[in-house]
Amino acid sequence: MAYDQNNIFAKILRGEAPYIEVYEDDATLAFMDVMPQAEGHTLVIPRAAAESLFDLRRDDYAALARTTQHVAAAVKKAIGSPGLMIAQLNGTEAGQTVFHIHNHIIPRWNGIDMKLHSRELADMKVLEEQAERIRAAL
Ligand code: 5GP
Repeated sequence: MAYDQNNIFAKILRGEAPYIEVYEDDATLAFMDVMPQAEGHTLVIPRAAAESLFDLRRDDYAALARTTQHVAAAVKKAIGSPGLMIAQLNGTEAGQTVFHIHNHIIPRWNGIDMKLHSRELADMKVLEEQAERIRAAL
């Protein structure tokens, strides 16, 4: 499938759609997931236009990994979760719904199940407050 320039993350990268930023650099952007599966659920994307893992150049994947590690540490510290899951869904069959590659950073606790994927829109004020804490922990 050809990369769709109108996917929501492409629009976010072009500044055409709103987002709550956590971190950015020349190669990557991190922002809050608007339908979080747990408190502090953050997404990291490369700026490069790539649908999945298999379309991404190696140095862009390295940049995605670097930013994911950096931001994950800040999410863990700011949100205070004992565990933290990194997920990347490649292809519809794997559950991918936005076709610009991204890593999910999802805090985890014993006894607290993750919410369903892409279901419930969060309160933007709450996400803003979480993003502020994560940015302060970077
Ligand atoms: P995927 O299923 O492709 O791995 O995950 C896509 C993620 O993007 C989901 O967790 C979903 O909640 C999130 N998402 C979908 N639309 C938007 C949006 O407009 N803004 C933000 N920040 N996240 C979105």
